[in-house]
Amino acid sequence: DLQSNTDSPTFAIESYACQRRTPLKHHNASLTEALELLAQNAEFTDNEGRSVAFRRAAAVLKTLPRAVRRLDDLKGLPCLGEHSLRVIKEILEDGVSSEVESTRQSEQYKAMKVLTGIFGVGTKTAERWFREGIRSLADLKTRGGRLNREQQAGLDYYDDLNRPVSKAEAHAIGQIVGEAVRAVLPGAEITLTGGFRRGKEVGHDVDFLITHPEEGKEEGLMPKIVSWLETKGLLLYQKTTRNSYLESKDGPVRPSHNMDRFERCFSIFKLKRTPEVCGTSNQSAGQNDVTEGSDVRQQEVQSEPSDWRAVRVDLVVSPYSQFAFALLGWTGSKLFERELRRWAGQEKSMSLSSHVLYDRAQNRYLRASSEEEIFALLGLEYIPPSQRNA
Ligand code: ATP
Ligand code: MN
Ligand code: MN
Repeated sequence: DLQSNTDSPTFAIESYACQRRTPLKHHNASLTEALELLAQNAEFTDNEGRSVAFRRAAAVLKTLPRAVRRLDDLKGLPCLGEHSLRVIKEILEDGVSSEVESTRQSEQYKAMKVLTGIFGVGTKTAERWFREGIRSLADLKTRGGRLNREQQAGLDYYDDLNRPVSKAEAHAIGQIVGEAVRAVLPGAEITLTGGFRRGKEVGHDVDFLITHPEEGKEEGLMPKIVSWLETKGLLLYQKTTRNSYLESKDGPVRPSHNMDRFERCFSIFKLKRTPEVCGTSNQSAGQNDVTEGSDVRQQEVQSEPSDWRAVRVDLVVSPYSQFAFALLGWTGSKLFERELRRWAGQEKSMSLSSHVLYDRAQNRYLRASSEEEIFALLGLEYIPPSQRNA
């Protein structure tokens, strides 16, 4: 009975993150940081189920209107498993969780953190290297093994790519990409997606979605954008992938699949440090955890102070008819996306991807031209980007 018990939450927290509003700034940062560290460690040890459980628990704490002070404050909340509750209890009582702190200090966690911090290195590769005894970038360099082009770029620009990208830098990149896009295809439109669309102050990269109101005009656009950028010397690295969506014989791809099939480009930009861009970027670099250690490691590659920095940029081209799905799919957060797909599948018998929404009961694709329409088709209240920070 909610009304007679003043200690109970005055509202119920829904169990799917896509049913809730999750702001960027919230009241339980130390708890969520701890749970997310355990989530990341679970990923490092290839335990996806456990990782998602910790992330869901953290996401619930992010939606709370105030700081959790006692375990009682958590009564009736969804997604808090036994393990998460144990960690929270420890932190509430002792200030820290012994499991979190020992994980943070563990050889495996530290090494995996450094190695997966290399652009182009996923958990699998990092794990293999760890088993081979590699613990640091120095180990990796002396080992002298083969690295692919992507990983080599990741190592070359390691420091820059692990330094947060500021809003000002994201804006500057947006100007450049916008110019490129308009130069090669007048009328094409570019939209900032990813974390910056959700209102983040910093990001690990900058994400853009590109389309053209006339369906079909966007075909083959990416190579043109890339060669415009390359001619101007603005790219340090790029890997373009063609649109593989139209090629699959059985029609649209199994939408449950995580990767979408848009024409895309994973790139590293060479961004000039203009006074405008620097104002915020220097500040943000100072505030963040660019450790002395990583500066030392990077000396060989970036020893002189340079007038540019490397920035990871993701470019995606979408046909106009799929734009709303692409926008929803590339705005994130990753957990929010995951929850949307789970909601669609489990609660609505639908399959959602960054391309389409498929209704399995009706056996047909549902069209939508805005994010609002997609939420409505899914029977969800509309959640704006700034509230998708699950
Ligand atoms: P940040 O970049 O600041 O760490 P972010 O939320 O922008 O945070 P990204 O990794 O850039 O994180 O991902 C942005 C969005 O793009 C996420 O919603 C993610 O699901 C989507 N995304 C990333 N990579 C792919 C991919 N290969 N295929 C489909 N979607 C992807
Ligand atoms: Mn991003
Ligand atoms: Mn990205």
